[in-house]
Amino acid sequence: MRIVLLGAPGSGKGTQAKLLVEKYKIPQMSTGDLLRAEVAAGTDLGKKAKSAMDAGQLVTDDIVLGMIQTRLAKPDAKNGFILDGFPRNIPQAQSLDAMLARLGQPLQLALLVDVETDVLMKRLTGRRTCGSCGAIYNIHFSAPKTSNKCDKCGGGLTHRSDDNENTVSNRLKVYQEQTAPLANYYKAQGKLRTVRGVGTVSSIFKAMGDIIESQIRPLADVMGKIESAALRAAAKAKAEEAKAKAAAKAEKIAKAAAAKAKLPAKKKVVAKKAVAPSKAKKKLAKPAAKTKQKIKTKVKSKAKAKAKAKAKKVK
Ligand SMILES: [Zn+2]
Repeated sequence: MRIVLLGAPGSGKGTQAKLLVEKYKIPQMSTGDLLRAEVAAGTDLGKKAKSAMDAGQLVTDDIVLGMIQTRLAKPDAKNGFILDGFPRNIPQAQSLDAMLARLGQPLQLALLVDVETDVLMKRLTGRRTCGSCGAIYNIHFSAPKTSNKCDKCGGGLTHRSDDNENTVSNRLKVYQEQTAPLANYYKAQGKLRTVRGVGTVSSIFKAMGDIIESQIRPLADVMGKIESAALRAAAKAKAEEAKAKAAAKAEKIAKAAAAKAKLPAKKKVVAKKAVAPSKAKKKLAKPAAKTKQKIKTKVKSKAKAKAKAKAKKVK
């Protein structure tokens, strides 16, 4: 199954992606992970990406698409993938579609984890992390019993600087402007399905699984039917080609045989010519016979008239 996950920061799509990877045994491809892997492996793409990052530039879409293509060629991706964090805008989505079309592996589903903006704000700004044991709290949804104190170890809770209201609100604004239009892009393709990202992790995961089962399995069946129809058509075309070849061969053999038998063929023509004159004679003979007959009857009628005249004289 080939899925793109969409969702705002704080929608919980990263958590869901990991669960999907476990359940469906297909890799999650996040551009951050791909970048780190390529740079660490020192590949050409990795070097290009590193020099862009070192120069303080964004890694181009071409590099990212190249990394995705490389990742798709690995054996564990043969049954599909979950893309998370890419594409982020419509031009990237178009490039991705073009690349996947070239590979004959089009996206099957764009799954949007939808969460209201005010809930996202509370999730992102309310996060508190224990500096000692790393436990995570949220002052709005899962507050510690004592303010700013870890329930487990009593350690102090910290508020990450990128979790402040301004930064979070900016991140959500960027998402709304760039990534939210992707939902319409995939909707126009008939590939968008939305799951409400509110509730327990397991209930959201179940809703996602239901969508995948109902959307991709039937689609896979249809694709299978199309593929087998295409295979049948190809087999038929091959059989017809073989038939045509065999016919052409037979014709060649017949021609060669005819060329060998050229002399007898000439004799036949000669024989026909020999027959022709006698036929012509017959044709000529027929009218001759008819005139003879006519003369005979004329003679007969003349004799009759003479006899009649004789009889009259006798009377
Ligand atoms: Zn703690």
